[in-house]
Amino acid sequence: ERTIERIAAGEVVERPASVVKELLENSLDADASRVTVAVEADGTELLRVSDDGHGMDEADAKRAVKQHTTSKIDDITDLETGIRTLGFRGEALHAIGAVSRTTITTKADGGTRGTEIHIEGGERTHVEPAGCPHGTTVEVTDLFYNVPARRKYLKQERTEFDHIQRIVTGYALANPEVSITLEHDGRELFSTSGRGDLRGAVLAVYGREVASAMIDVEHSTGDLPEGPLTAVEGLVSHPETNRASRDYCTTFVNGRYVTARSVREAIIEAYGSQLAADRYPFAVVAVTLDPEAVDVNVHPRKLEVRFVDDTRAHAQVTNAVETALQEAGE
Ligand code: ADP
Ligand code: MG
Repeated sequence: ERTIERIAAGEVVERPASVVKELLENSLDADASRVTVAVEADGTELLRVSDDGHGMDEADAKRAVKQHTTSKIDDITDLETGIRTLGFRGEALHAIGAVSRTTITTKADGGTRGTEIHIEGGERTHVEPAGCPHGTTVEVTDLFYNVPARRKYLKQERTEFDHIQRIVTGYALANPEVSITLEHDGRELFSTSGRGDLRGAVLAVYGREVASAMIDVEHSTGDLPEGPLTAVEGLVSHPETNRASRDYCTTFVNGRYVTARSVREAIIEAYGSQLAADRYPFAVVAVTLDPEAVDVNVHPRKLEVRFVDDTRAHAQVTNAVETALQEAGE
C-alpha cells in the first residue's frame, strides 16, 4: 500500500518545482503578506517556504498532513476560469510528505504556542510544541529519497532550479500585493515589495533596466481583431532590453497564472525582426475570454492552457503587442 501511495504521490509531485508551487499556493491561501522560498541546489536537498499567514493550530496541522480525499486523481474544471484544476485538493501536503522528510512549523493567528510536525516517507514521526512566530514554515528535505525512479528522471540542477524560478516569478508577478522572496543557496535572487503594483514587482524580479523600459499593453474588444479574447493587458519589454536567453513570458488566463503557449508564441512573434537571434522578450500578459472558450482537453497536471480557437487568439495577442510596440516606437 505504501508503494502505491508513493507512486500516486509521484504523480502529484513531479519535480521540486511542483512542491514549490503547492507550498506557495498554500501560503497565498493562508493570506500571507510575506512569503520566502529558499532552495538549496536543485531543490531535492532542501526547499523551505515560510509565510506570515494565518497558520495552523495543532489539530489543523495534524489534519493537514493526512490524506483527506480519495486518492483518485481526476480533474475538475473551474466554472469561472474554464481552467482545469486537479481533483487532488487536500492532497498536496500528504503527497509531499510521502516522498520526502518534511517538517512543518506553524502557529495560528492568536495562538500562544506553535507546533512542529515531522513526516518521513509518509510516516508522522513526531508532533511537539515549538516556539515560532505566527505563520507557517514548511521545510522539505531529501525529496524523492524513497522514490529512486523519480530521482533519476530529474534534470540537471540548473534546469530544475529554472523551473522553480519560473514558478516563483510567476506567482510574484501574479500577486504583487504579497512580498515574495526567492533565495538560492543562501543568495537572494529577488524580493518583491508587496506594495501591489505590477511595475514594482517587475522591477524587483527583472531589474531596473528591463522594468523602466517596459511597454504597456492595454487592448480590449474594439481595439482587437475578432476572436475569443476580450482583453489583452500587461507589460512587454522594449526590444532593446530583450537580453533574455530564454523566454520570460508570464501569462495569465482569466486571472490565473498558467502557461498559455499560444499567447507566449504570439508575444514573441509580435517582435518579429526586432528580436535578435536567440533573444527573448520579458512579458507579463493577461488575457480574458469566455471560460467556455478555454480548451479543457489539456493534460490536467500541466499548468498549460489552450483555447478552442487558438489561431484567432494567437492573432489577437500578436496584434495587441505589435500595436503597443509601434506606439512606443513613435
Ligand atoms: P489544499 O491546499 O488543497 O487544502 P494541502 O495539502 O495543500 O491541500 O493543504 C492542506 C491544508 O493544510 C490546507 O487546506 C490548509 O488548511 C492547511 N495549510 C497548508 N499550508 C498552510 C499554510 N502555509 N498556512 C496555513 N495553513 C496551511
Ligand atoms: Mg494546497
